[in-house]
Amino acid sequence: MEWLTNMLRHDGKIFGVDWIVFWTAIGWLGNSVFFSRFVVQWYATEKRKQVVIPVLFWWLSLTGSLLLLLYALFYDKHHVIIFAYLFTWIPYTRNLIIHYRHKKAHTDCPSCGRNCPPQSNFCSNCGARLSPVTS
Ligand SMILES: [Zn+2]
Repeated sequence: MEWLTNMLRHDGKIFGVDWIVFWTAIGWLGNSVFFSRFVVQWYATEKRKQVVIPVLFWWLSLTGSLLLLLYALFYDKHHVIIFAYLFTWIPYTRNLIIHYRHKKAHTDCPSCGRNCPPQSNFCSNCGARLSPVTS
């Protein structure tokens, strides 16, 4: 990792910006993105009056934690902070994969066009029979 740091860092600057200012900005951007997921989740839950975790929550979790991991690896370099964000991308990425697979498995009703949940036999909107999904 030191070779990358040396390649990017010239005269205490990275991309023309002071090294400390650059990584402090990355750290705060990561904190802001990571924190914003709580606001998004809380808003979605209040709006629906039930506990909801919107897909944006997982994107914000992934982006914020990766920014904080970069900050920890290249600037802070403290093992506690590095370990805190080293593996969090795994469940975030897995939840995004499951979400998009589930969304792709939905069926469009041939009669009214409504997007029906996977393995539905009938359309919840017009009652038309849905053709079974063959895989
Ligand atoms: Zn329908």
